[in-house]
Amino acid sequence: MPKQIRYLDRNKEPTMEAGLRVKTYKEYSYGFSPTLALDEAQRCLFCKDADQRCIKACPINVDIPGFIKKITEGNILGAYEIILKSDPFPSICGRVCPQERQCEGSCILFYDTVKDRKNKGLPVSIGALEKFVGDTVRLMGIKPDLKKEPPNGKRVAIVGAGPAGLSCAHELAILGYSIDIYEALPVAGGVMVYGIPTARLDRSIIEWEVNRLKSLGVRFFFGRAIGRGLSVKELLNSYDAVFLAVGAGRGKLGIKGENLNGVFSAIEVLMRVGLMGAGRGADTPIDLGQKTAIIGGGFTAVDCAITTLRLGIQTHVVYRRTRDTSLARQEEWDHIEEEGAILHWLTQPIEILGKEKVEGLKCVKMKLEGLDSQGRPKPVAIEGSEHIIECDSVIFAIGQGANPIAYEELPNLELTKYLTIKVDEGFRTSVPRLYAGGDAVNGGDTVVRAIAEGKKCAMSIHQDLTSGVKR
Ligand SMILES: Cc1cc2nc3c(=O)[nH]c(=O)nc-3n(C[C@H](O)[C@H](O)[C@H](O)COP(=O)(O)OP(=O)(O)OC[C@H]3O[C@@H](n4cnc5c(N)ncnc54)[C@H](O)[C@@H]3O)c2cc1C
Repeated sequence: MPKQIRYLDRNKEPTMEAGLRVKTYKEYSYGFSPTLALDEAQRCLFCKDADQRCIKACPINVDIPGFIKKITEGNILGAYEIILKSDPFPSICGRVCPQERQCEGSCILFYDTVKDRKNKGLPVSIGALEKFVGDTVRLMGIKPDLKKEPPNGKRVAIVGAGPAGLSCAHELAILGYSIDIYEALPVAGGVMVYGIPTARLDRSIIEWEVNRLKSLGVRFFFGRAIGRGLSVKELLNSYDAVFLAVGAGRGKLGIKGENLNGVFSAIEVLMRVGLMGAGRGADTPIDLGQKTAIIGGGFTAVDCAITTLRLGIQTHVVYRRTRDTSLARQEEWDHIEEEGAILHWLTQPIEILGKEKVEGLKCVKMKLEGLDSQGRPKPVAIEGSEHIIECDSVIFAIGQGANPIAYEELPNLELTKYLTIKVDEGFRTSVPRLYAGGDAVNGGDTVVRAIAEGKKCAMSIHQDLTSGVKR
């Protein structure tokens, strides 16, 4: 009998009610139970051309039908082992990837190939299934069978323990390399630990992954800001290769009033609250007032809103494009809106008002007209639409170039015009044996792209160190 196609009855992960979750920093999504996971897995049609659909749309090409099939057979360890071939961190990607723009956006249940029409039905909850698999293995303490090569005597230093650095370490450790990671902060995880709030990604998950890396032999050196004390040049003298995975700094817009009291960068707010406990009983100060305006339309903006809402602050988010062209997950916008955030789409800040302290944010309304240099709809100001959003603080949640401390002393390191590190297709920089990837190269994108670049870089390092060709 032909399989009944269940276009619409997608299972949703049970989620804490909005009134409760705004009072806690605990994860608000409970994840699939085994029954829900099995039911959702059975919606997959296991397309023969999946390599042209969900697998292709995944930046690390996870064998999605392969792992979902294992769930339908009740073999969760088998599902985990399939995912691990492409994705070293399933519980993390399942939680934070923008699946609707990636795997789920190409699911046949959603995309009608015959009429070339989107929104035909609801895609399989691929992200939630990946998270279910990762969480089950982690919580049950099951050990996957990882085939690790014997030590090959080669040493690689990695600067930065964000997703790019961690994924590069994972791949090289399995290939038999000796890996040392130098991290400026006292913890590993990069933005995943000091940016993304615990409400979306519990820290125990990152700790578990870091311990797994340690069990593969990876060594971590915390509180070591390369460029202050130990330099990249010194690392290049002691190691066969060095991978710079230092992430991106966060920027401002260059508008009037940016130096007023009450103007913050997103990372400052997220680090003070998330890592140092400001506003949560610790001594660390943070004065955002009663009302805040967050500028930006990506994950950073959403995470700032999650944080300020939990501090009881009236929260405005101001973005110059539309909701559906924003870079965060649509579901996350729904969540913060339910929690009380006021979202201002097609709105461009033009001045921060105030004498010494922030008193408001002057904005102009935008419309989309034509395309910009990257092929995205271009926002254009609407004349006479100036208006003021009342606020006591402004938070910049927009990206910029790479974190520079690590490479300031390398005059031969070429940068792009966006101040990101210039690399070739194998993530090799202009300095021999020095590689770079993640936000430091792409200017700020996603966890999964950083993972993908960390992996590609590992492959280039392996190729270069085993080919005998001197760089
Ligand atoms: C607030 C926020 C929320 C986000 N939410 C999401 C999301 O939900 N989903 C998603 O896919 N993406 C999200 N992103 C984007 C994603 O987090 C990044 O693209 C990703 O973390 C980049 O990884 P990375 O390893 O390149 O850099 P990072 O994660 O920035 O890690 C770089 C590491 O290098 C260390 N470092 C820097 N300089 C030095 C030095 N000189 N010496 C030693 N160590 C150094 C830093 O301390 C840091 O730990 C978010 C970004 C932000 C800012």
